[in-house]
Amino acid sequence: MVIAVDGPAASGKGTIARALAAHFGLPHMDTGMLYRAVALNLLRRELDPDSEFAAVRACDGVAALLDDEELRSEAVGGIASRISAYPAVREALLERQRDFAEGTSGAVLDGRDIGTVIAPHATAKLFVTASPQVRAERRLAELQARGVTAHLPDVLLDIEARDERDSHRSAAPLRQAADAMLLDTSALDREASVAAAIRLVEERLAAV
Ligand code: C5P
Repeated sequence: MVIAVDGPAASGKGTIARALAAHFGLPHMDTGMLYRAVALNLLRRELDPDSEFAAVRACDGVAALLDDEELRSEAVGGIASRISAYPAVREALLERQRDFAEGTSGAVLDGRDIGTVIAPHATAKLFVTASPQVRAERRLAELQARGVTAHLPDVLLDIEARDERDSHRSAAPLRQAADAMLLDTSALDREASVAAAIRLVEERLAAV
């Protein structure tokens, strides 16, 4: 069984994907970390994020960076959002994600294009969203918990810029797959979001 979880930044998709993986006993892949690892590699090797060629070179050796603390930084996230628009970068990261999705025991993957490109035949697809304001408040709380000083208007602008880039790029843009179930977490806390996601997936499983 493959579960695809897509959605914009800070929608709660990561929390939901991890909880679904634990609930159904499946391995989980946060595919955003791959794009973040490419971004971190670019930064460390002082390569130019405006060059698709350089970004593809930075796809080599991402596996070694997947546990790096710096992956979660805002600087890395911003560059990840830019380099993820390059078709050649998406192509370079495709096989690793497909192999994970097609592993024998099944899997939960979360990202932007899981239900549309990586696992179009997933058993259950969720598109997790929330209003930009709510997502900005969540991202601010996460940053503050990590001791980072940030201001809500700046975080909101950053979330909106990322939404714009992720939704309007030509290569695998963020969009809800036709057969994905929509879960709006704007008015839900963590527990209620997870419970709603499990219910939707169980309903889908009962229907197949
Ligand atoms: O989800 P996260 O914020 O960690 O992802 C970082 C960036 O990687 C996103 O802004 C998005 O542009 C990109 N991404 C993507 N496709 C995925 C996962 C992430 O384009 N499947």
